[in-house]
Amino acid sequence: MRILLVEDDTLLRAQLRTALQGAGYTVDEADNGRDAQFLGETEAVDAVVLDLGLPVVDGLTVLKRWRAAGRNMPVLILTARDNWHEKVAGIDAGADDYLTKPFHLEELLARLRALIRRASGQASAVLQCGDWSLDTRSGRVTCAGQPVTLTAHEYKVLDYLMHRPGVLVSRAELTEHIYAQDFDRDSNTIEVFVGRLRKKMSPSADSSASSASPAASARIETVRGMGYRLVLS
Ligand code: CA
Repeated sequence: MRILLVEDDTLLRAQLRTALQGAGYTVDEADNGRDAQFLGETEAVDAVVLDLGLPVVDGLTVLKRWRAAGRNMPVLILTARDNWHEKVAGIDAGADDYLTKPFHLEELLARLRALIRRASGQASAVLQCGDWSLDTRSGRVTCAGQPVTLTAHEYKVLDYLMHRPGVLVSRAELTEHIYAQDFDRDSNTIEVFVGRLRKKMSPSADSSASSASPAASARIETVRGMGYRLVLS
């Protein structure tokens, strides 16, 4: 999942970047409203953290322009303390949630998870598809009850697919949602990540023999020339 982080305070932006990347997100950044507006209009971001007090163009104007342009990604605004009318104006302009500065990083991450979940129609913080499970809070992944260790990129691919079970996702879409804007993207590597995921996310001989697991087994199906789909078999 890709987050657009818009904050002109360099120190706070660095803290947020570290926290977001630590939580498994790909992060694009802007430190002013003009760049933010451009990135939000042109990049495939899954959610935005938007400070309202920004140089060049203020955050509220940026948000209104995105919504007017039909950009409907979830937006979490950061507002100044004791400025209740900023919150009201932000929500009316199309913000999905707000946080008042100063805030705890854990709260920001929890609110973002909830926004991303809602945007993809998921209700629970633990995504479940048959015998596969992904806990979006801890990043813990299991297959048939067994923990699975994934690389950062493998996790990003699985996380994206687990948010959209049964939905056909193209390689281009996956590529857009796991790499930041300035990254040298190569959609062929997606195939490599999916190949590794298939290997890692298959129940070990032991667990399938010993447990009569009631859950159907999940798998990533390749739709030739189109992309991938997380399905139950
Ligand atoms: Ca600011």
